[in-house]
Amino acid sequence: MSSVKLHDKEFSKFISFEEIQVAIEKIAAEINTNYKNKKPLFVAVLNGSFMFAADLMKKITVDCEISFVKLASYHGVNSSGSVTELIGFTENVEHRDIIIIEDIVDTGLTLEKVIEIFKHKNCASLKIATLLLKPDAFKKDYAVDYVAIKIPNEFIVGYGLDYDGLGRNLKDIYKVN
Ligand code: IMP
Repeated sequence: MSSVKLHDKEFSKFISFEEIQVAIEKIAAEINTNYKNKKPLFVAVLNGSFMFAADLMKKITVDCEISFVKLASYHGVNSSGSVTELIGFTENVEHRDIIIIEDIVDTGLTLEKVIEIFKHKNCASLKIATLLLKPDAFKKDYAVDYVAIKIPNEFIVGYGLDYDGLGRNLKDIYKVN
């Protein structure tokens, strides 16, 4: 399938499933080296990261655990900014080596809020693994430790990522026309 229509927009194939797997293999190898003799806990941020998390985990050879989390944003009563909370996360992360799994880092705001939450949990270490990074959109100064693929500042779907709910099931990644 070289193009798809989702809602009102046309998308063209941009990154194939095979290219995605090669890119994931590279960061998995780095993680396997860096976490030898450790037992990291991967925390995948849903919904977008589910395909990436599944393929990454199949390539991880060190002892490890995985848990999943959802984010909720709301406007606090006495605060002008929005507050982000983790939903369904009961894991004790104290003294654990944590690797957050994200689908895409765009401006970096979402991930910044996740990092802020984990900073107060007394983890042994906290690293980030993302399938995609848009360097031209990224406005933050924290490190994104493991980046599988860097992409231009364009809207993409597929391989877990959606356009208004559609497209998460696509095997490859597509770019808006
Ligand atoms: P950020 O807070 O600007 O880094 O945006 C991160 C979130 O926006 C991701 O977790 C995605 O849910 C969504 N997002 C950003 N860019 C795209 C895209 O190109 N396609 C689909 N979702 C995106």
